[in-house]
Amino acid sequence: MQTLKQVAKAHRFAVMQPAAVQARNDERLALAAAIDQANAPALVNHTPQRNGRSRAICQCCSKQSLPAAVDSDGEPDLWRMARGWSQAPLPADYRHSDGSVGSTYTCPACNARLHRGETLQLRAGNAMREVQ
Ligand SMILES: [Zn+2]
Repeated sequence: MQTLKQVAKAHRFAVMQPAAVQARNDERLALAAAIDQANAPALVNHTPQRNGRSRAICQCCSKQSLPAAVDSDGEPDLWRMARGWSQAPLPADYRHSDGSVGSTYTCPACNARLHRGETLQLRAGNAMREVQ
């Protein structure tokens, strides 16, 4: 036979523990998400190379171009890149919502898909399609 105190204690555990565990799990998940976000590498639209050239990075699939000569802003010069790449020219210090900076690039394969009318997912999570 349990005493009233034992029953109350057991009941409190039964009622409060799951909520406390849930709160603690939520806190841990929120902390883990914040740490992941802080440690995630920033998205970039091009990667400068040691030889002064830079590789454009496709805003859809993250494919990198061959190293290309850069323009006066230090960004890959579209006219010196392989055929099929495209560039959305923006000020070199323009910061996008995804954290990347400057002009954005799209690779030949993704451009072909866009021309066929597909909607493509961007690295940042939003989507893009060609206006017909
Ligand atoms: Zn692509």
